[in-house]
Amino acid sequence: ELLSSRNISKEVLRSFVKITSGCNNYCSYCIVPFTRGQETSHPMTSIVKKITEDIANGVKEITLVGQNVNSYTDPETGGRFPELLEAVAQIKGEFWTRFVSPHPKDVNRQMVEVMAKYKDKLCSWIHFPLQSGSTKILELMKRTYTQSEYLEKVKMIRTILPDVFLSSDIIVGFPGETNEDYLETRDVMEKVSFSIVYSFIYSPRRYTPAATMGDPCPLAVKQDRLEKLQLHAKETAFKENSRLVGKIERVLVEKKMPDGRLVAKSTGNVRVFFEGLDELIGTFVNVRVLEASRSSVVGVLKPAESC
Ligand code: SF4
Repeated sequence: ELLSSRNISKEVLRSFVKITSGCNNYCSYCIVPFTRGQETSHPMTSIVKKITEDIANGVKEITLVGQNVNSYTDPETGGRFPELLEAVAQIKGEFWTRFVSPHPKDVNRQMVEVMAKYKDKLCSWIHFPLQSGSTKILELMKRTYTQSEYLEKVKMIRTILPDVFLSSDIIVGFPGETNEDYLETRDVMEKVSFSIVYSFIYSPRRYTPAATMGDPCPLAVKQDRLEKLQLHAKETAFKENSRLVGKIERVLVEKKMPDGRLVAKSTGNVRVFFEGLDELIGTFVNVRVLEASRSSVVGVLKPAESC
């Protein structure tokens, strides 16, 4: 039945599995702890059972979801996020697992080592929200890490998982952000080289501490900063996507595009376009990557027998 639903929708079957709800972090700009309450985690046994059923029903990509997904703690055993990742990776079947959104403070060596150990099941992609590259602004945001701690973690991640792709969220124009603070963010972007950046101009949320912070910076200045940052992000995206050129990537085929090509995702969450038959939708195939752009790569299908 689920297989036919895949054929009807002509899209890969995905499952989003909520592992935590709420958040205890109280970042000064965020409303989530007020609207969703304190963090709670679901038992590991029920998460593993749900994913096992999903895989049996044809799901090919699991996304573990939580406001602060990697602060997961099993309420039954006290097991932490790396142990959950390992338990998921040991489920039989051909599938990929991603997770959103981790908090940098909870990204640790054990988590990255598990990702490296089970590369066939755990995607080499980490969404690693920076928010600001200035330690002064990070403190005002109550993000609980400094610029150097963030960069140290990036170094640790890239040492253990050299092929990893990192994406991020960045807020421009947080109250008190000077041009120097902004340039520090740009500097961190250059050092890390994100493949995707979701960037926004800060906007106040009721009830949050940041909403009462004075901010003399004009909107036009913030817009200019955002525009330049987004151009910069496109350059690093192109650089990151170009890493795949000439390589053979295992990709999960998602759907057919209006122009007739297939679109797939790589383990690093890069969109890959190539020519192929509809039957490949929902399967893993190998693609030789020929060229990169700022938003995707283009390749050709590599026949399985010649891999
Ligand atoms: Fe929690 Fe994320 Fe909101 Fe911070 S930004 S309070 S980590 S949900």
